[in-house]
Amino acid sequence: MPIVRVALPVPLPQLFDYTAEDADGSDVGRCVRVPFGRGDKSGVIVALPGDAEVASARLKPVHHIQRDVPPLPADWLELVGFVARYYHARLGEVVALALPPGLRRADGVSGEDVDPPLDLTAAGQAALAEARRESRALALLSEAVAAGLPARRSVVRALPAGAAVGDALKRGWLAISAQSQPRHLAVGLPTLTEDQAAAVAAFDAAEDGFRCWLLHGVTGSGKTEVYLRLAERALAAGGQVLMLVPEIALTPQLEGRVASRFPAANVVALHSGLAEGARSRGFVQALTGQADIVLGTRLSVFAPLPRLGLILVDEEHDASYKQQEGVRYSARDVAVWRARQRKVPVVLGSATPSLESWLHARNGRYATLNLSRRAVASSLPKVRCIDTSRLRLDEGLSPALHKALEERLARGEQSLVFLNRRGYAPVLSCPSCGWISTCPNCSANLVVHLADRRLRCHHCGCDGPVPAACPSCGNQDIQPFGRGTQRVEARLAELFPAARVLRVDRDAARTRSQWEALLATIANGGADILVGTQMMAKGHDFPRLTLVGVIGADSSLHAADFRAPERLFQQLMQVGGRAGRGTLPGEVLIQTEYPAHPLYQHLSRQDFDAFARMALDERRQAGFPPYTHQAMLRADAPLLHDAVAFLKEARALGEELAGDAVRLFDPVPMRLTRLARRERAQLLVEADQRGPLQAFLLAWMEALYRQRAPRDLRWQVDVDPLDV
Ligand code: ADP
Ligand code: ZN
Ligand code: ZN
Repeated sequence: MPIVRVALPVPLPQLFDYTAEDADGSDVGRCVRVPFGRGDKSGVIVALPGDAEVASARLKPVHHIQRDVPPLPADWLELVGFVARYYHARLGEVVALALPPGLRRADGVSGEDVDPPLDLTAAGQAALAEARRESRALALLSEAVAAGLPARRSVVRALPAGAAVGDALKRGWLAISAQSQPRHLAVGLPTLTEDQAAAVAAFDAAEDGFRCWLLHGVTGSGKTEVYLRLAERALAAGGQVLMLVPEIALTPQLEGRVASRFPAANVVALHSGLAEGARSRGFVQALTGQADIVLGTRLSVFAPLPRLGLILVDEEHDASYKQQEGVRYSARDVAVWRARQRKVPVVLGSATPSLESWLHARNGRYATLNLSRRAVASSLPKVRCIDTSRLRLDEGLSPALHKALEERLARGEQSLVFLNRRGYAPVLSCPSCGWISTCPNCSANLVVHLADRRLRCHHCGCDGPVPAACPSCGNQDIQPFGRGTQRVEARLAELFPAARVLRVDRDAARTRSQWEALLATIANGGADILVGTQMMAKGHDFPRLTLVGVIGADSSLHAADFRAPERLFQQLMQVGGRAGRGTLPGEVLIQTEYPAHPLYQHLSRQDFDAFARMALDERRQAGFPPYTHQAMLRADAPLLHDAVAFLKEARALGEELAGDAVRLFDPVPMRLTRLARRERAQLLVEADQRGPLQAFLLAWMEALYRQRAPRDLRWQVDVDPLDV
């Protein structure tokens, strides 16, 4: 009896063996449904071992092998295997993450979900000629094909013996149509700028095969156009293109642009916002080679792509490429690994590259493509700091910003006031007894949302009404303290009654359709002053936006996190880059009490390279990444004491395993110690090289898995953590 070895999404390190009477080698990579415990689970067959690890009499049979869809190819299994190893996750968990839920369930996929055209093979024709009874489905199918109906599952299903397609595929009577190469001629090409042309030429001149490119282009330099030209080349060579973007919100615009550029290409979007059927369909189109371009967020890095020719990673510095729960992978780093595995080029694009990528480019590990001038606008916006240390501000607004807003209104141009804090005020407080609104579940304050009169925790989401009086002393004069976007919006509406003020943050754009409506309003000139959070910083192109005013940035200047300056610089340069992208000149005003701070100085000169050199010097001296490599072991429990105790034991275990190359630090409470009624601590592990760190983690994780942790304690490891 054949045995199949299955990766299942369960918190156990091993793989699981089952019997399957009709299984053979061609089933490796197929989804399968199996009995597990008292219920069922679905996973993927990763091998057909000759011998089971358990006596085969004790093995249970599988319920169902999903044969309606081609198996996941070997390179895909290798990919999920790498991710499991590198991030120290279970293979089954990675598989569960990488597969669309509809496919993984393996309980039958509907015809509409997966609908690749089928061809009758020579073997199929021979079988047909023999006209055996069991080939009745085949005969009906071939009639359908002859009648000009597409030989698709949905058609086949409608036929009396429809269910036999999987069988016919398995016997090799039917095959998924080989793609007749459509011609992916690009249409509507703009003339490239000098920089763009040089970048494309440099790419063209390189040898085939793996290479990692850093496309470092200032905001508005036309990076998208370069992506499209490189995609055109890959498509013409018969390749598939994988394009990653950081935000779901950016996909529809880009999808439209890509689809209109390559009308003959099959462009597939893949992200978690899609309905289940659409996600399965897109994934299968990638798998069968029918999709020419797969465009999506971080999880699309797992799309199987048999003809992969090029990977593009837009805004490669963006933190949303790193998953922060479950399997904590970095889609950008996985993309680079995948490009190497498949021997194809990968392009990482950004106006503000991550220091990791920037350093690789400087060391020559990555090749660089530079776009130093804007494509349309004649210049980058002028950036000026406004010293607010001796100014009286009006709800955070300086007189200079006020005047600049007035000028834009008079000229009919748009402005953006950037404040990366949503809500009305970060906390409600009582001046008489000192009470402040704190979250009952977290070590965080409750944020005042006056728009719907709620106090809300931005960490656990709990909320309640704004109290009329101090809950502690009864004082009725309680005050919102500090300011968020709602407060600035309200003040701007008072100051400029004739202006249309529009707030753009996660509260105003809760759903995708709300977000798209907001973007449309801005693009159609339906707003004069925007008040926005970092949602406004990314990727958007509004030609009439000429002023960006930044308020409240100083609070990130002295944050304890060593990555805070990098993030702040990137954010401000990105948001400033929204100004003056069309033909109108742009201006950026940054309110700060520290105008002489080097970060702001480099920003004023729009000098990313100078900032990067400075920040990297600091990192090297302090021994931070990218000069060292880190992993973080985190634990959470109802009581901090238990989380710390677990980490102390883990540390003791680790000390026995760690050689000289690996350093373990003391467990410490996390900055946001309490989150949703659980208390959290972490332990940092560090090494100068990846190799020793990985070897240590492997041994350490094994030892930790063998340990019995208290039942209400959870722990997990984060390799290359972003938040430390
Ligand atoms: P980036 O992503 O580098 O910030 P975009 O790709 O959004 O820049 O391009 C900025 C603007 O310049 C867009 O409006 C785009 O249509 C335009 N653009 C880019 N390249 C060209 C070109 N070669 N000719 C004319 N317009 C261009
Ligand atoms: Zn009080
Ligand atoms: Zn909370």
